[in-house]
Amino acid sequence: MKIYIVTDNEGVSGVSSASYISPAFNRPDLIAHANKLLADEINACVEGCSRAGATEIIVRDGHGSGQNVTRAMIDPRADLISGATPGELLADLDGSDGLILLGYHAKAGTPGAVCEHTMSSLTWQNLWINGKLTGEIGICAYIAGEHGVPVIMVSGDDKTCAEASEWLPGAVTCQVKKGFSCNGARIPAPGKNLELIAAKAEEAVRKAHRCPLLKAAQPVTFRLELVSRQQVPVNPAYRHLDARTWELQAESVEKAFFFNS
Ligand SMILES: [Zn+2]
Repeated sequence: MKIYIVTDNEGVSGVSSASYISPAFNRPDLIAHANKLLADEINACVEGCSRAGATEIIVRDGHGSGQNVTRAMIDPRADLISGATPGELLADLDGSDGLILLGYHAKAGTPGAVCEHTMSSLTWQNLWINGKLTGEIGICAYIAGEHGVPVIMVSGDDKTCAEASEWLPGAVTCQVKKGFSCNGARIPAPGKNLELIAAKAEEAVRKAHRCPLLKAAQPVTFRLELVSRQQVPVNPAYRHLDARTWELQAESVEKAFFFNS
């Protein structure tokens, strides 16, 4: 059984603000701390997957440039995908029995959600896929669905779990903190998150065969509202709706997503 884990840093239990995940805030101490916490959560997740019978586990380091953990930090039962994978959000996903979104966050604009955003807090205001306001949980689940892989578990704050329940009623949710704002959280004692993640991952992998795929109707309409004016691309495939908003159609969410990059 093959399980694929893609990570983000915003939804890790000890992370309460952007200072923990972005070099822009000049707190390398917090970033190093957050990356260690991320590694611990990855290893707890690998442990849970292994208990449930996973024989091949891939961890995709998914935040920023994909170099938040080192190979040495990760359980040897998993392979680590680190760094850039051009044109692929989830390289080597094909053939997986389930995808786990570990350390995820709620979509841009979610009240009380830690580090809420969709892809880029600096440039993306809102994304709609086929008319539905969509965050990174939805993007990943649609792309995984196009590869025949269900999302079986999502971890993060309470708002992340609520969004996951709405989008993916068959997936296991794992709340590792409570959000108060974009930059504030209530964080349980160290270790509680790891026990919970291992138990939830085990449960999710055991139920993976019953988890439905999320499929977007094709062709896919991808509408992006940017934060600022004057960022709208000049590619003729884009239909400009106003100075901050453009739309395109593509045959899949994956193709639409990479049109933009
Ligand atoms: Zn991130």
